Amino acid sequence: MMEAKAKKIPYLVIPIFIPFGGCDHQCVFCDQPKITGSSVLPSTKEIQNTIEEYLGTWKRGGRKEVAFYGGTFTGFPMDVQEDFLKAAAKYVEDGRIDALRISTRPDCIDGDIIKLLKKYHVGAVELGVQSMVNKVLELSERGHGGKETVRSVKLLKDAGFKVGIQIMPGLPGDDKESVITTGRRVRLLKPDFVRIYPTLVLRDTPLHEMMKKGLYKPWELEDMLEVCEELYKIFTRASITMIRIGIQPTKELEDAVIAGPYHPSFRQLVEERINAT
Ligand code: SF4
Repeated sequence: MMEAKAKKIPYLVIPIFIPFGGCDHQCVFCDQPKITGSSVLPSTKEIQNTIEEYLGTWKRGGRKEVAFYGGTFTGFPMDVQEDFLKAAAKYVEDGRIDALRISTRPDCIDGDIIKLLKKYHVGAVELGVQSMVNKVLELSERGHGGKETVRSVKLLKDAGFKVGIQIMPGLPGDDKESVITTGRRVRLLKPDFVRIYPTLVLRDTPLHEMMKKGLYKPWELEDMLEVCEELYKIFTRASITMIRIGIQPTKELEDAVIAGPYHPSFRQLVEERINAT
């Protein structure tokens, strides 16, 4: 069960994983089934069973949300999005869940999608931004630039959503300066929260191939800690909550990691450095 810290108020996040769902891209770093530990899309019934199961064991009250994680939610056809949202929204309508949240790409947000998300009680949208430097986005084959992120954050904020931004320091073409540039540009967008996922090389991804050909050099842990310390300072000064620093350690992830600055307690290492200064 995933429990997020929100001061002293209990907070339940019910995760529904939609691996590769809605995504027709192949970003060089991504192997979605290995990250989420699953490769099959959940049915409406499975979504509802998962929600019931979590609600049945949660006795602490507080805020409760259903989160669609793992893919590009708004990349699905509208009717598929609607089926997923409807399956979970009924729990908001009967008062057992407070809101839904989804994750998606910055170039998969438009006015119609915003209307659909609003209709089904989505309160927060997390954008996989990864970098705000176009050269890095191109080399990572993201298929969008920084301006799509600026545009989608504005659309979402104007519509009243909470906006989360995920960034990945250490992508192809990144150096310390470009990571800091990304941090500063993200700060200017004033997201409600950020996640920082240092780039790791996962088995059989395009990034793995690039590494084998000498076209990508994974970052050393020490270098990644140093730049994440700077990001930590940038976001802390702007009062932007960092809900995650370092990818969640799972057996699937650890089996898939070939190279890169992986540490199961990455956030703790960053905070120890901050506290030592
Ligand atoms: S858009 Fe997201 S799900 Fe699709 S390949 Fe890129 S990182 Fe993976």
